[in-house]
Amino acid sequence: MFKKILVANRGEIALRIQRACRELGVQAVMVYSEADREAKYVKLAEEAVCIGPGPSALSYLNMPAIISAAEVTDAEAIHPGYGFLSENADFAERVEQSGFQFIGPTPEAIRMMGDKVSAKQAMIRAGVPCVPGSEGELPDDPAQIRRIAKTIGYPVIIKAAGGGGGRGMRVVHTEAALVNAVQMTKAEAGAAFGNPAVYMEKFLQNPRHIEIQVLADKFRNAVYLGERDCSMQRRHQKIIEEAPAPGIARKLIEKVGERCVAACKKMGYRGAGTFEFLYENGEFYFIEMNTRVQVEHPVTEMVTGIDIVKTQIMVAAGEKLPFIQRDIEIHGHAIECRLNAEDPYKFTPSPGRITMWHAPGGPGVRVDSHVYTNYFVPPNYDSMVGKIIVHGDTRDQAMARMRTALAETLVEGISTNIPLHRELMADAKFMAGGTNIHYLEEWMARRTR
Ligand code: ADP
Repeated sequence: MFKKILVANRGEIALRIQRACRELGVQAVMVYSEADREAKYVKLAEEAVCIGPGPSALSYLNMPAIISAAEVTDAEAIHPGYGFLSENADFAERVEQSGFQFIGPTPEAIRMMGDKVSAKQAMIRAGVPCVPGSEGELPDDPAQIRRIAKTIGYPVIIKAAGGGGGRGMRVVHTEAALVNAVQMTKAEAGAAFGNPAVYMEKFLQNPRHIEIQVLADKFRNAVYLGERDCSMQRRHQKIIEEAPAPGIARKLIEKVGERCVAACKKMGYRGAGTFEFLYENGEFYFIEMNTRVQVEHPVTEMVTGIDIVKTQIMVAAGEKLPFIQRDIEIHGHAIECRLNAEDPYKFTPSPGRITMWHAPGGPGVRVDSHVYTNYFVPPNYDSMVGKIIVHGDTRDQAMARMRTALAETLVEGISTNIPLHRELMADAKFMAGGTNIHYLEEWMARRTR
């Protein structure tokens, strides 16, 4: 096992990794920007290094600053968390070339999954079900583009190979709009992602977002830890996640989970990863793979009892996975609500000083947050200030626990989306389970009226 790890991230995930290190008896070096001096994990750190000013480009995205911080502190490995440099293959490569272990997959695996065209081709080869579409990049010839769309059937979606964060996509309903839409998406993709390649997929009308968590070691052992339902999204941003997914037969999950494991073994994948799928009419359709830990990983930890972050560190250190597929059992139900510093109706960010923070507690309640009373939420970053995760024997019990937890949560000084979560936990359709990816936005449109 490593003696010392550098945590190249901020916010709640920095604290989460610090906690995993403590449990493993590994020293954690925290890095922080000038805007994050006051963060809880910095105050709790045995060692912390300032890597630059507030703007991410000068600190959390500053590769030389992060690698030097690892050098001066004698860290052996770097955990990238999520966001920032976590899916940057060049960073993973520079970390390894500088003599550190990158806590994640190989640069080659990150690169392959970062290009959605090559990712999809790898999935097709491994037998993972994909959305019907162009096999690879779209050609330039308009006649050929029209032919591909006709075969797939309208509506179709044009997606940038290098896209991410819900950007670089365009839905097309008619042939008349097709060629122009492809050209516009290409131009935008070139400007935004430095890669003009686009591909085409059938546009699914009312899918749910279901994802499979995997863990793999360096010896081609891999397991899946069941699924998460992350269909409650606003502008492609998840706000509530749960495990297991309501109403999907275990047999179907097992089938797709086994394909994901097969894909990991075929690719020589190592570390934690998530296969994201759209699910419609009983079928799974792969959309992308995330080669890092995800915000919503705690719901899987709650239902499996497996510590995903600790396992990431263990496999990076060269240990074998301490379990096989038969050992993985799903117990009860878990739900996560993301707490954002934002107006609960208009969604405008609400940074500033938290004058009062009271976190909920009690049986089956977990809070992952780096904030506290008197903490200043900096305006520079993502608005998420923490996550409330609950576990219950049944989904109903988990929902009741979430309602209780939300009722106990007090945050003053800034606005948060807690009122939104309280309303959703009492919404009949959400309570029934199985809402699709459009449900939250449709619900919000009704709510403001
Ligand atoms: P990103 O990397 O930008 O998150 P994804 O490929 O994961 O891109 O897609 C983001 C979201 O876009 C999905 O969660 C879904 O809401 C929508 N989407 C993507 N592909 C399709 C499709 N073929 N049909 C319907 N919706 C889609």
